[in-house]
Amino acid sequence: MRLFLSTDTGKCCSSGQCVAALPEIFDQDDTDGRVVLLVEHAPSALSRELYEAVDCCPAGAITVREEAESIPEVTREETRGQ
Ligand code: SF4
Repeated sequence: MRLFLSTDTGKCCSSGQCVAALPEIFDQDDTDGRVVLLVEHAPSALSRELYEAVDCCPAGAITVREEAESIPEVTREETRGQ
């Protein structure tokens, strides 16, 4: 499983809690302080920290969605000759 992240800069009030909690995931825009998402996907190992960041955001501007890891589809053509 991996985690898909999104942020709503329209809701963000530039408080910076997410950056303090996870600076490898979140940053703030230099001009208005609104959240900047550094990565869209995160490993499930960071789930506890990410959900804490969601909870501490005063604007409800962070969304985390769990996604199953996709398994690459192997076509019949790719299996020929093996
Ligand atoms: S914690 Fe929420 S309101 Fe504060 S900077 Fe991050 S996304 Fe914006």
